[in-house]
Amino acid sequence: MSFVTVENLQKRYGDTAVFSDIAFSIAKGEFITLLGPSGCGKSTLLRCIAGLTGVSAGRILLDGQDLVPLAPQKRDIGMVFQSYALFPNMTVEQNVAFGLRMQKVATGPARERVAEVLQLVELDTFAQRYPHQLSGGQCQRVALARSLVTRPRLLLLDEPLSALDARIRKHLREQIRQIQQELGLTTLFVTHDQEEALTMSDRIFLMNKGQIVQSGDAQALYTAPVNAFAAGFIGNYNLLGSEDASRLLGRAVPRSLAIRPEAIGLLADPGGDGEITGHSLLGNVIRYRVRAQGVSLVVDVLNRSAADLYPNGQRVRLAIEPGELREVA
Ligand code: ADP
Ligand code: MG
Repeated sequence: MSFVTVENLQKRYGDTAVFSDIAFSIAKGEFITLLGPSGCGKSTLLRCIAGLTGVSAGRILLDGQDLVPLAPQKRDIGMVFQSYALFPNMTVEQNVAFGLRMQKVATGPARERVAEVLQLVELDTFAQRYPHQLSGGQCQRVALARSLVTRPRLLLLDEPLSALDARIRKHLREQIRQIQQELGLTTLFVTHDQEEALTMSDRIFLMNKGQIVQSGDAQALYTAPVNAFAAGFIGNYNLLGSEDASRLLGRAVPRSLAIRPEAIGLLADPGGDGEITGHSLLGNVIRYRVRAQGVSLVVDVLNRSAADLYPNGQRVRLAIEPGELREVA
C-alpha cells in the first residue's frame, strides 16, 4: 500500500526543467533515502513536497490526499534542513514548542509533548539552554525534535548531517534511524553521501540530473547497478570500456563492464601481467592501484597483516570471478 505517491512531477524555473517526470511511491513507515550528486534536484523535490516551492505539473499524494493545492502548514509534514535555523533568542524548549504554539495546542499538553520529544533526542537536560550554548550535533537534534513535536505524517530531512563532523554524523544517523523506527515515521532523507544511504535506508532512490535512475534496497543498488552512473556513484566500481575490458580479459567483450574493487583477487607473482602502481590504506582495507594490459584498476584487499602490503612495482596476477563482471550501459 502506497502512503506517499508522486506522479509525473515536474518543476521548471523559466525555461529550465529541474525535473520533468518524477514518479515514485513510498509505503507507510518506510525510510527512503534520496541519493545523488549536488545539483541533481534533491532539495527541489523535497521543497515541492513540503510546499516551499510550487510544482509546474504533477501530483503529490499523502495518504490519498493531493498536497499540491495545500499551503505548507496544512500539509502536516516535518522538515529538517542542513542549517538548523533555530531561533537564537529562544531556549531549546521554546524552539521545540514553537510549532505547537502555531497550532494553538494548550500549554499543558504542549509541555508534555516537548518533554517527550526532548527525551527522544536525548536533550531533556538541555531544555533551558540557548542555541549558542549547544554543539552542531545538539542543534541538529533540536531541529529534529522541533520537526517531530507536531507529529507529522511525513518527515523530510535535507542533508541534516552534512555540516557535522564524521563521528557525530555516524552517531546521529543511528539515532535518527532508531527514532524513525520507534515512531514508525515515513521518512524521506536526502544525502549525497553513499555510505549514509547504504547504512540508513529501507530503500534508496538514486537520482541524477533530475531523474530517479534506480531504486531498490542497498544490496540491490550495490551489487546490481543499472548503469555506469549508478556503478560509479554507489560502489567505487572499476568501469571499463569494451576495448579495455577485452584487453584485460583476453577475449572480445562487446559491452562496457563494471567490476567492484573487492571482486578482484591479487596474488604476488613475478610472472604476473599486473603491476602495483600505488596504494592507500583505508584501515581494514588496502586500496591498490594496479596496471594490467595497459588498463588501470582499483583493487581492495583486506588488510590482515603487514605482509599484505605490496610495494610499488610488485608484479601480481589478477583473479576476477566471471560472475563478478557487470555489463553496464
Ligand atoms: P541538490 O539539492 O540535488 O543539490 P537542487 O534541488 O538544489 O539540487 O538544485 C537542482 C537544480 O535546480 C540546480 O541546477 C539549481 O541550480 C536549480 N535551482 C534550484 N533552485 C533554483 C531557483 N530558485 N531558481 C533557479 N534554479 C534553481
Ligand atoms: Mg540540496
